[in-house]
Amino acid sequence: MTATIIDGKAVAEAIRNEVKAEVTQLRAKGLTPGLATVIVGARPDSVSYVTSKRKTCEELGIRSIGVEFPENVSQDELLARVRRLCSDPQVHGILVQLPLPKHINEEVILNAVNIDKDVDGFHPVNVGKLGMKGREPLFAPCTPSGVIELLDRVGAKISVSRAVVLGRSNIVGLPVALLLLGRDATVTICHSKTQNLAEVCRQADILVAAIGRPRFVTADMVKPGAFVIDVGVNSLPVLNPDGSPVISEKTGKPRTKLVGDVDFDAVKEIATAITPVPGGVGPMTIAMLMKNTLRGAKHAFGLL
Ligand code: NAP
Repeated sequence: MTATIIDGKAVAEAIRNEVKAEVTQLRAKGLTPGLATVIVGARPDSVSYVTSKRKTCEELGIRSIGVEFPENVSQDELLARVRRLCSDPQVHGILVQLPLPKHINEEVILNAVNIDKDVDGFHPVNVGKLGMKGREPLFAPCTPSGVIELLDRVGAKISVSRAVVLGRSNIVGLPVALLLLGRDATVTICHSKTQNLAEVCRQADILVAAIGRPRFVTADMVKPGAFVIDVGVNSLPVLNPDGSPVISEKTGKPRTKLVGDVDFDAVKEIATAITPVPGGVGPMTIAMLMKNTLRGAKHAFGLL
C-alpha cells in the first residue's frame, strides 16, 4: 500500500480562499478584520515570517498593522505598545513574532496580549481552556490546529483513534495532544524520557511527530494503515555519492535540504496518509493564523 500524500499547500490555499470569501462579505458590510504583527529587531528568519504574514493579510483583504521596534527597545515601551493594540478597535489579532531579544521577558509580553486578540493561541488562559473539558478557547495555536485540519480533510476518524504525539513543547506537541483529546481521540504523549517509544508509536492510528530529529520515525515504528503527520523541520547537508557535501555554485556554501522527523520514503509505503516535508504542515501555519484573525474579528463584531 502506498499512502496518500497530504498536500498541505493545496489545503492551505483552500483555507485562504475560504477566509478571503468571508472577509469580502464582511468588508461589504463595512467590517474589516485587522491583524497587528509586532517585530523587534531584524533577525532574517523573523523578518521573513512577518513579511509572509503581512503579505497574506493583504491578499485576503485583512488590514495589516505592522509594528516595528529596534533590537534595543525597552520592555516597558514594547509592553505599552502591545497594550495600545489591545484597546485598538481596528485590531482583531495581535501577533508578537518570537523570539524576542534576551533583555525582554517573553512571558510578560505574551501575557499582555488580550485573550480575545491572541491569534497565536499562546496565552496561558487560551492554552488552559484547550485542556479543560467543555471550555473552548477563542483561539487554538496555529500549527497544531493545522495538524487537525489536515487530519480532518484527509478523512481520519479522530474520535475513534488511538493517537500518539511525539513531543510535548508548548507550541506544538502539547496543544496538538490537547486538540486531539478534545476531539475524543485516545492520546499518548511521548518525549525524550519515554521508554519503549517505538512500541508506543506502533499502537498509533494517528502518529504526529514534532521533535526536531531528522527521519527519527522509521517504518518499523509505524502501524500499517496509520495517518502520519510530520511537523518536524530539519536542515540536512546535501551529499555527493562519496559522502562529501555538495557546494552551491551560487553561494559557495554547502547545500542543505529540509527533511521531517519521519523517514518519509519508507513510511509512505505502509501508512494510509502522510504529510511530506516541505509542503505538508508548514504551509498550514499562516493559513490557520488568517482563520484565527477572521474568528477574532467575527467575535469582536458580535458575529460568532
Ligand atoms: P522543541 O521545543 O525543541 O520540543 C521538542 C520536543 O521533542 C520535546 O518535548 C522533546 O522532549 C521531544 N524530543 C526531543 N528528542 C526526542 C527523542 N529523541 N525522543 C522523543 N522525544 C524527543 O521543538 P518544537 O518547537 O515543538 O518543534 C518541533 C519540530 O517542529 C521542530 O523540527 C520544528 O522546527 C518544527 N516546527 C514546525 C512548524 C511548522 O511547520 N509550521 C512550527 C513549529 C515547529 P523533552 O520535552 O523531554 O525535552
